[in-house]
Amino acid sequence: MEVYQGKSVFGGIAIGRISVHKKDEQQVKRVRIEDSEQEILRYRQAKQTAMEQLQGLYQKALKEVGEANAAIFEIHQMMLEDDDYNESVENIIRMQQVNAEYAVASTGDNFAQMFSAMDDDYMRARSADVKDISERVLSVLGGRATGIAASGEPVIIVADDLAPSETVQLNKDLVLSFVTVHGSVNSHTAILARTMSIPALIGTAIPLTDDIDGKVGIVDGKNGCIYVDPDEDTLGRMQQLKLEEQEKKELLQTLKGRENITIDGKKIMLYANIGNSKDLAAVLQNDAGGIGLFRSEFIYLERDTFPTEEEQFQIYRTVAETMAGKPVIIRTLDIGADKKCDYFEMEPEENPAMGCRAIRICLTRPEIFKTQLRALFRASAFGNISIMYPMIISVDELRKIKTIVAEIRQELTEQGVTFGEPKQGIMIETPAAVMMSEELAKEVDFFSIGTNDLTQYTLAIDRQNPKLDAFYDPHHPAVLRMIQMVVENAHKAGIWAGICGELGADTTLTRRFLAMGVDELSMSPGSILPVRKIILETDVTKERENNNLC
Ligand code: PEP
Ligand code: MG
Repeated sequence: MEVYQGKSVFGGIAIGRISVHKKDEQQVKRVRIEDSEQEILRYRQAKQTAMEQLQGLYQKALKEVGEANAAIFEIHQMMLEDDDYNESVENIIRMQQVNAEYAVASTGDNFAQMFSAMDDDYMRARSADVKDISERVLSVLGGRATGIAASGEPVIIVADDLAPSETVQLNKDLVLSFVTVHGSVNSHTAILARTMSIPALIGTAIPLTDDIDGKVGIVDGKNGCIYVDPDEDTLGRMQQLKLEEQEKKELLQTLKGRENITIDGKKIMLYANIGNSKDLAAVLQNDAGGIGLFRSEFIYLERDTFPTEEEQFQIYRTVAETMAGKPVIIRTLDIGADKKCDYFEMEPEENPAMGCRAIRICLTRPEIFKTQLRALFRASAFGNISIMYPMIISVDELRKIKTIVAEIRQELTEQGVTFGEPKQGIMIETPAAVMMSEELAKEVDFFSIGTNDLTQYTLAIDRQNPKLDAFYDPHHPAVLRMIQMVVENAHKAGIWAGICGELGADTTLTRRFLAMGVDELSMSPGSILPVRKIILETDVTKERENNNLC
């Protein structure tokens, strides 16, 4: 047994086989094969396993999130049974004498392109589904190096590093945990692990050798270590801990359906952060009151070209409809720093965290911004959508945004396109926005404090630099005072203020935030019930006295 220490970004215990993820294996390779009939058989077996996985997912979703939301897995099964799709894969294997992985990847790409070129909205939306089913078969075949084992069995992914664009593309049903050699606890990869509610370690000195690939591993997210090839004693002990953890989680389930209300009657909005419509199941399972932060840039990161207005509209509409009237706050694209998209063709920058990112891209490249705004305004006719702008530093920026928004409204009206009237708010994540919060509050419907960036910019500490993790302190009095100031200025103008950075889920601060008057907390879905528990046990009046805030 070997033990490697890392830094934990999400608690919990994962037990399973290790799969080493190597970047240079990411592309599906075209390999010539001798026996094409044997290869076709291999494809058919993989397809069968994928069908069984989809059936399992359908049953699970049916129980947890209802028939309407489970239907997608039925559609995926139908697509995988489609004659044209199967003939294409088998023809490529037979005619070109190539491996099943290559045939599936080519068919998936061709069909996805074909769907996306169709006029009908419904058919165009099937493009993402055909990619999804192809990815699933590839995972089963073991041909996509997302660390997914050939058996399709969920695994612990061990990698050098994972970019947010790679993490977001992982098939979440097949990932038990990830462990990386590099990375920072405040990176978006770490945030994604929390959204997926899976134990994850970064900065782990584990060798990425074939030697450990396929071995049994245990990730202990509490103590920040991974056991490779554990002895029986350790395995038994960890299995017991995992069981206890499960029991604790089940106890929290009893809080589902309860209002988020303190002993002395203060209500608070508890919302979920998501990066993808696939996260919706977790949102519903954890009883979130809405979505407080939909990081829309992940839609861009998942693709090789700009998502069209129609593609975005379908995604936002699905999210709004699934949430059935509950608030859905969608942040406009926040590309930049660690979230990079090659097709944006950005010039390299000395200091990208302080560079051309987020709203700065949107204001300098309005064609990108307008496409997203049109999709958001159209989708808001189908649910309770609010738009949130990131990285704001001035009232002047808001005026520019408002001019563009007015143009969008006019265009849509002239074109006779149906649209709604979303509320509009901003993220407070720069010290400038904090200092200007009194003026900014008069211009918007709400504030949401992004404590991840606010900590980085206030303390002048790069959140991506793992060497500075010990200095990156979101509990720093400067950050907490800023939160207080923002809440006071919001209330003075009659708007609400929430927190959607990782600090929102920090249960050691929940009472303090309540005492400060924070109205909303938005967090990874798995953190909602633990935070609800604290809210139910808090007396805000007493808390204010303790914190000298009365
Ligand atoms: C933040 O900065 O706190 C935030 C929520 O945005 P992101 O982590 O995506 O930068
Ligand atoms: Mg931010």
